Amino acid sequence: MPYCPRCGKQVDESASFCPECGTNLPHNTQSGNVPPAGGNTVIGENLNERWLITFLLCFFLGWLGIHRFYTNRTATGVAMLLTLGGCGIWVLVDFIMILCNTYTDGNGQKLKA
Ligand SMILES: [Zn+2]
Repeated sequence: MPYCPRCGKQVDESASFCPECGTNLPHNTQSGNVPPAGGNTVIGENLNERWLITFLLCFFLGWLGIHRFYTNRTATGVAMLLTLGGCGIWVLVDFIMILCNTYTDGNGQKLKA
């Protein structure tokens, strides 16, 4: 519940003026005073995108090792393709590693969400 800025009396949230002193009440929710959306770092944007693509590839095509091809881990990607994702276990491990930000690509670089 908001308070009247002049007399300090508690007023109804939908009230446009104070019933006690008649002061017009500012409607904070409608003032359009949106807090700035900044603060996001642009540095990790490419990495986030790569993480998302890897995540989706692993989720949908992980049993074909596609996410490993995508992250330059071709050799293990082929092995994964031949074993159909290590009978699903290997691909599950990869999936968890991607989720936990511990999956590394062919360059030894960790993919982070
Ligand atoms: Zn008042």
